[in-house]
Amino acid sequence: MGIKDHHMRLRRELEAPAALRSFGNGWISGTLSAAIGLACLALVIAYRFPGVFATTELLGSIPTAALRIGLLVAMLTAFLLAILSLLLRKDAYLGMLGIIFTLVASIIGGTLDGAWLPNYTPIYFGLDFFVLNVVLTGLIFIPLETFFPKHQEQPLFRGEWREDMFYYLVSSMLVQIFTWISLGPVNFLLANTNWESLREWMASLPFLVQIVAIILLTDLVQYWLHRAFHRVPFLWRFHAVHHSAKSMDWMAGARMHFAEICILRGTTVIPMFLLGFSSTAVHTYIFMVYLWSTFIHSNIGWRLKIVEQLLVVPRFHHWHHGIEAEAIDVNFAIHFPWLDRLFGTYHMPGERWPEGYGVGGHPVPKGYWAQFFFPFRSSKTQAEPVVNEAADGDSSDTKEK
Ligand SMILES: [Zn+2]
Ligand SMILES: [Zn+2]
Repeated sequence: MGIKDHHMRLRRELEAPAALRSFGNGWISGTLSAAIGLACLALVIAYRFPGVFATTELLGSIPTAALRIGLLVAMLTAFLLAILSLLLRKDAYLGMLGIIFTLVASIIGGTLDGAWLPNYTPIYFGLDFFVLNVVLTGLIFIPLETFFPKHQEQPLFRGEWREDMFYYLVSSMLVQIFTWISLGPVNFLLANTNWESLREWMASLPFLVQIVAIILLTDLVQYWLHRAFHRVPFLWRFHAVHHSAKSMDWMAGARMHFAEICILRGTTVIPMFLLGFSSTAVHTYIFMVYLWSTFIHSNIGWRLKIVEQLLVVPRFHHWHHGIEAEAIDVNFAIHFPWLDRLFGTYHMPGERWPEGYGVGGHPVPKGYWAQFFFPFRSSKTQAEPVVNEAADGDSSDTKEK
């Protein structure tokens, strides 16, 4: 669809006859959502480029905290209205427009640094956008999973959703906190390494080039780390927690042991800072990998024939979580499936999806804390598979893994 077609569709929607604009058919919510979303986008751009898109007098006169909270509330409102419109209205145009505006605004807002926040602390900074990100992620993926589900029978509130929601909160917070904690080691290493010319060169690269380079480097590192987590028995006990999810959706990817998150972030994010990539690029990467890993776990049944050759899509990572024997130790990459082709672990059989998910025998107990201590328990107790009650088994065909 060209720009002209978009213009026509927007006009047709905005100028719809009264019968199509009455209360309860999604026009009011859709229009409001698009308008508020656009306003948020404009405001965030203004903040991103003070002096270019905003008058500094105005910025200075409004207390920053009030503005940030206002922005947060406005973005949430725009998103909720968009969802309401999508539910009520046949034509999804206005609702999608509201979602896109708000999403872009939150992405630009998410990469803002603390320079314009007077009493800036990273954790405080993390919290507001963390709340926004959690809610927005749900608001992006719930409609997508509703409209394009792979497993149609899987309810939104499927088994163990509360456990995964808790993981979701903990691990999203950890990304922020870990980044903050890692600043100490990063500064120490920066002071004790002599790579100034390399760093200057890295920082001088265009932003997009930096992002692509970061994704390539980190995916290569995480491919082998992920493979080690599967092949080394001691590490597998930690990673088995991630694989214990028996349903795949936008919440399932968050289930990951605390130690694994620290190791994963430590081996991917810290080297990126040391190599000299700009902190905006590294933070954008962190945000992108967060959204991408949510996407590849999600219950979205899109058939992405060309894309799946180049990028990891849900079906690829669903096979990584498959309960079948053919799904053991395949598809380790998070971004680039051709890494698995290169290293001989690629598995994408025809058009098929796995029949079920989880670890054969389901040895991992339920609940956050039980799973937290699970890797430290003696391997003797772990050797005895825990038999799950039939009541919670949505994938009962458990072959031994
Ligand atoms: Zn894995
Ligand atoms: Zn996964």
